[in-house]
Amino acid sequence: MPDDCIFCSIVDGEIPARTVCETDDVLAFLDANPLARGHTLVIPKAHAERVGNLDADLASAVFDAVSELTPRVQNAVDADGANVGINDGEAAGQEIPHVHAHVVPRFEGDGGAP
Ligand code: 5GP
Ligand code: ZN
Repeated sequence: MPDDCIFCSIVDGEIPARTVCETDDVLAFLDANPLARGHTLVIPKAHAERVGNLDADLASAVFDAVSELTPRVQNAVDADGANVGINDGEAAGQEIPHVHAHVVPRFEGDGGAP
């Protein structure tokens, strides 16, 4: 892993984060600058920069966590839906070069996609 990866530092406990859930391979925590209440990030614990760098087992572990977490996050904040997505690459808006899925709760009448 690169020395300066913020999300690896969160996995290692060097930077605090509010954990939502954790498995052997995946960590989910609240986004520090949430687009909505309950905005959660789901990451593989092992460093991988882009979606295409994940092996099949890890990709599957990330997706399993996303699918399990999304309804729980929605329930926790009483949301009506959620945007689930990954910004893959700088051109797509990826600011942290460690794969992460966003789960952004959505509320009826909240004004459209972020
Ligand atoms: P990206 O633009 O790379 O898809 O999203 C990066 C996300 O990481 C942003 O939503 C940003 O708010 C979040 N973020 C950046 N630094 C930190 C941090 O140190 N802690 C947490 N919890 N979230 C962070
Ligand atoms: Zn990393």
